[in-house]
Amino acid sequence: MHELGLVIQVIKTVEKYMKENKLSTVESIVLQVGQLSEVYPKYLKDVYPIAVEDTLLKNTELIIEETAGIGQCDDCHFNYNLVENSNECPVCSSKKFSIISGKEFLIKELHAY
Ligand SMILES: [Zn+2]
Repeated sequence: MHELGLVIQVIKTVEKYMKENKLSTVESIVLQVGQLSEVYPKYLKDVYPIAVEDTLLKNTELIIEETAGIGQCDDCHFNYNLVENSNECPVCSSKKFSIISGKEFLIKELHAY
């Protein structure tokens, strides 16, 4: 489970940002997590409360936005959801594709005051 390591990285990044910008409170963090990123939002949510204890983010809410794993078929150029279609083009059944989105793991927004 590498989610704990990722959460700790996120916390460090946000804490650094808070110090640089002299923020005392961050209300919430919005993380964008792609369906193809091999990160499980459920695990992120599970480890987050433990990871933020004794940090500046103790009372900060974690919001996770999942982005769909979208690929474009290399043969007919149709865009489709890779996860829902098991990496097979629903139009021409080709298994060749290029990933358009879904590998993201990033801090999208901070709500601070
Ligand atoms: Zn196709």
